[in-house]
Amino acid sequence: MQTGSGISILEGIAIGRIRYCGRKNYGAGERLHGEPLQELKRFEEARELVQSQQRELYKKAAEAAGERYAEIFRLYAAILEDATLLSKIRRRIEEEKLTAENAVRRSLDEIGRQFHEMEDPYFQARETDILDIRNSLLESLSRDGKETGLKPERSGEQMILVGDDFTPSDTVRLDRTALAGMITREGSVNSHTAILARSMNLPALVQCEEVSADWEGKMAVLDGFAGKVYLDPPKKFLDSMEKRRQESEREQTALLELRNKPTVTRDGKRILLGANIAVLSDVEKAKENGAETIGLFRSEFLYLNAFKEPSEEDQFQAYQKVLEEFAPGRVVIRTCDIGADKKAPYMNLAPEENPALGFRAVRICLKRRDFFRRQLRALLRASVYGNLEIMIPMITSVWELRECRKLLEECRRELEQEGISVAERVPLGMIVETPAAALCAEELAAEADFFSIGTNDLTQYTCAADRQNQNLGDFFNPRHPAVLKEIRMAVEAAHRHGIRAGICGEMGSDPQMTEILLKMGVDELSVNPSSILPLRKKIREISLKTPEEPPLQ
Ligand code: PEP
Ligand code: MG
Repeated sequence: MQTGSGISILEGIAIGRIRYCGRKNYGAGERLHGEPLQELKRFEEARELVQSQQRELYKKAAEAAGERYAEIFRLYAAILEDATLLSKIRRRIEEEKLTAENAVRRSLDEIGRQFHEMEDPYFQARETDILDIRNSLLESLSRDGKETGLKPERSGEQMILVGDDFTPSDTVRLDRTALAGMITREGSVNSHTAILARSMNLPALVQCEEVSADWEGKMAVLDGFAGKVYLDPPKKFLDSMEKRRQESEREQTALLELRNKPTVTRDGKRILLGANIAVLSDVEKAKENGAETIGLFRSEFLYLNAFKEPSEEDQFQAYQKVLEEFAPGRVVIRTCDIGADKKAPYMNLAPEENPALGFRAVRICLKRRDFFRRQLRALLRASVYGNLEIMIPMITSVWELRECRKLLEECRRELEQEGISVAERVPLGMIVETPAAALCAEELAAEADFFSIGTNDLTQYTCAADRQNQNLGDFFNPRHPAVLKEIRMAVEAAHRHGIRAGICGEMGSDPQMTEILLKMGVDELSVNPSSILPLRKKIREISLKTPEEPPLQ
């Protein structure tokens, strides 16, 4: 049986017939030059059509996957209004007398290349978005304004879409009911297509080198657990995979029954189970999955998803919305953790030899205090709309935490003088994610209102293993005894000072670690919304009275 392997985007089984969609060859045999007035008119018509398509796609994506994933189409519409881009295209048509197609291709390819050359994988993946807009414009120009798009045949049969890569527009235009899974030769786990597939609960593989046009029409099983695809499988194999598919569907449905159940161990210890979120519309996902708290709102995504720094007012509105939507539940908003692998071009951060050890998070905030004040003021202004707690990332010393508290109090006084109300108490906590913080946990616990342990960075810094470096898989070990010792130190120090200690790193959702963490006394686990229900099931099966297992190596 012919097989292929790739990186799985979502665990699950998909069975269906392959529909191969190769790369579209825009521009073959095109005219190079044209009459400027005519070409300008064609460009404007194409732009209008694509913009209205983007608005439609926004609605469709918001329904299928939630507003968070639909945001990309708003961004597309905004790019099509970008003054620099438009004047570039118009100038090429007017001065170089290029056809609309040529002017569009040259201008957008130029921007695509700029993204491609960026070091950050998040921004690299944005090249696909730019090419997506380019292709939509070219498609619209080639059909002189008539509707187009990737449309699956409606034979009633489930299909697995296969191709070199798909754009977010392709993905969302598809009829979800006919689509079982997706496989691409290219693409990355960071691409919006991957994010969309995940949120649409669609098993998908990217970087599957074996993908070929010969696959068209074959029956296939996509095993998202193993990252494999099997072509034309024998009946026995197909039947056993169909059974697994149904089982995994049943498990998902059974989990939904735990949505409103408490998170409590067999012997009655209550654990707080929270959601890690990155953007506003994730609140919906957190609630759907029965989150009891929002343990980590990664506020830097407000900065990363923008072309310029969000103003105090923009931020205030975003925080107010999250707080109102989750009220009366508690929302922990982490202050901007930009730098290292998360760079916003408008911040003008200089290239660094060792970015993970460089200018990031609280270090930027304490150096660029006006920048930090805008965020603190926005947070305090929003505090009256719900149950807010503020959390500082990358703390390595008591001094940093004290400086943050001082600034927060200054902002509070400023706002009160301006007659703006602020909640009476806004707890200020910190992430324990550096060995320095773990080793000084006693001193820090005396000053912080709560601890949340960031096991991702704590592992990176303790094991001296860059979390972005794919060659260090075996060395980046969250279960390393040193990391576990640090977690224990932080939890015990927190409890001696009467504050809570939670986990907000990925270790929180590792089911093999749940019992160990709870036995160490961890009070709260904050995880991706999709991990909440499996984790609640796991916690309800654990008894803390059984003897402690030795920490894993
Ligand atoms: C962590 O470091 O564990 C954490 C939760 O933060 P991030 O992954 O955003 O750095
Ligand atoms: Mg971190």
